[in-house]
Amino acid sequence: MQSTNPYTTDVLDSYETPTDREVEQAIEAAADRFPEWADRSVQDRCRLVDRAGDLLGERLDEYASLMTREMGKPIEQARAEVEKCAWLCDYYAETAPEQLADEVVGTEADARTLVSYEPVGPVLAIMPWNFPFWQVFRFAVPNLAAGNVGLLKHASNVPGCARAIEDVLHDAGVPESAFQSLLVDSETAADLVGDDRIRGVTLTGSEGAGRAVAERAGSELKKSVLELGGSDPFVVLDDAPVEATAETAVTARTQNNGQSCIAAKRFIVHTDVYDEFVGAFHERLDALTVGDPREESVDVGPLAREDLVADLHDQVTATVDAGATLALGGEPMDREGAFYAPTLLTDVPRDASAATEETFGPAAAVFEVDDEAEALELANDTSFGLGASVWTGDLDRGERIAREFEAGLCFVNEYVQSDPRLPFGGVKNSGYGRELSRHGIREFVNRKSIWVQ
Ligand code: NAP
Repeated sequence: MQSTNPYTTDVLDSYETPTDREVEQAIEAAADRFPEWADRSVQDRCRLVDRAGDLLGERLDEYASLMTREMGKPIEQARAEVEKCAWLCDYYAETAPEQLADEVVGTEADARTLVSYEPVGPVLAIMPWNFPFWQVFRFAVPNLAAGNVGLLKHASNVPGCARAIEDVLHDAGVPESAFQSLLVDSETAADLVGDDRIRGVTLTGSEGAGRAVAERAGSELKKSVLELGGSDPFVVLDDAPVEATAETAVTARTQNNGQSCIAAKRFIVHTDVYDEFVGAFHERLDALTVGDPREESVDVGPLAREDLVADLHDQVTATVDAGATLALGGEPMDREGAFYAPTLLTDVPRDASAATEETFGPAAAVFEVDDEAEALELANDTSFGLGASVWTGDLDRGERIAREFEAGLCFVNEYVQSDPRLPFGGVKNSGYGRELSRHGIREFVNRKSIWVQ
C-alpha cells in the first residue's frame, strides 16, 4: 500500500499489507484480549484515553503535517483536527464513567430493576481519508472506554495516519491487541464483517460502501453503524445578514478543500437577498488562496487524490450541460497537484448532478427560491439527510425550520459541525446510528435489562 502526496504527487511511503495469516492472527488476538479489557474498570480504561489526549497535544505538529502530506488538508485545519481529537479524549475520559453507569429504572415496588451497558467484543471500523484522525478517534475512544476492542481498516490513501493512530493509543498504554490497524483492501474488510468474532461494524464513507457493508452485516445479523455522505442545504432567508452569511458560506463549502460530509453543498437563497448574496459569495470564493497546504495562508489545497478531480469535474460539467450557469471556476487547475478551482454554479436545475449527488470538492450550487416554504421543500428534496443550516435574523423562525429539516444535524446561524457533546449522524441515505456524546458510546453495547425480585 502506498501513500502519495496530492500536492507534489510524490510517493511518500510504501507499506506491507498483511498476509491472510497475519489478519487471522490479529482477529484472534483481539478476541483473546477482549475479556481482559472488558473486565477493567471504566475508570482504568479512561485513564488511558486521557493519556492519549495528552500525547496528541505533545505530537500536534507531527500529526498535523502527516495529514497535510498524505491527503492535502491545509495545515491550520490539520492542527485543529488533532486538537479536536485531544478534546474528544478529554470529553470521554471525563464523561464515559457516568454514561456507562448502571441506570436504575423504577418498575415494581418489590423489584430492583436496572439497565447495564456492557461491551460486546471486537468492533471493526472502516474509515475514510477526509478527516483521517478525527473519524478514527471518534470510533476508537468511546468504544475503548466502553470496553470493546477495535480493528481499523483505514482508507488506502492514508496508511501513515493509520499507523500514527495505532502508535498514539499504544503509547498511551492501550494494549496492542485492543486496537489494531489492518492495512487491508476493501474486499478483505468486507469479508471480515462475516467473521463470527467481530461483533459489530461501523463504516464512515460513501453510500456505495455503506450499502455493501450493511448488506453483509445484515446477512450476518450483525449490528452496524453507517455514517455516509451528505448534500447539506444552506438556507439563506430574506432576513439574514447577507455579508456575514456569505462569509460563513465560503468556510462551510470549502473547509477541508470541500471534502467534508457535512460541508454545505446546496445554497438555497430567498429571492429578496439572492443577488446580494450571490455577489458577496462569488467575490469571496474568487478571493480564496489556493495552493501549498503547508502554507498557513492557504485556504484551499489539493483534493486528496487525482481521480477525485476527474469525478468532481464530471459533476460540474454535467450540471452545466443540464442548464446551470458557471459563474466561477469549473475546471481542474493548470498546475501540478490534484487541484480543482473554487467553483460557483447558479441557476442549478433540480435534477442536475450538483443538486442530486454529493459533490466532494470546492464547488457550490446555488438555487433561488420565492419563499420560506419553497426553501424548506427544496432543502428536504434530497436522498441525503446528514446536516442542514438556516440563516435568519429571527431565532424562533430558525428553530421552527430546524425542526422541519429532514437531517440529523440542524443548525441555525452556524455552519454544521461535529461536537463531542452532541450526537452525530444522519437519516435517509446518509446512514443510521450515531457517533459522539452518550448516544455514540452506547451503540456497540449490550443494553442489558436486569430484574431482581
Ligand atoms: P469510500 O470510498 O466509501 O471509502 C471509505 C472506506 O470504505 C475506505 O476505507 C474504503 O477502503 C472502504 N470501502 C470502500 N468500498 C468498500 C466496500 N465495498 N466494502 C468495504 N469497505 C469499503 O469513501 P471515501 O472516498 O474514503 O470518503 C468520502 C465519503 O465519506 C463521502 O461520501 C463522505 O461524505 C463520507 N463521509 C461521511 C462522514 C459522516 O460522518 N457521515 C464523515 C466523513 C466522510 P479503500 O480506501 O481501500 O477503498
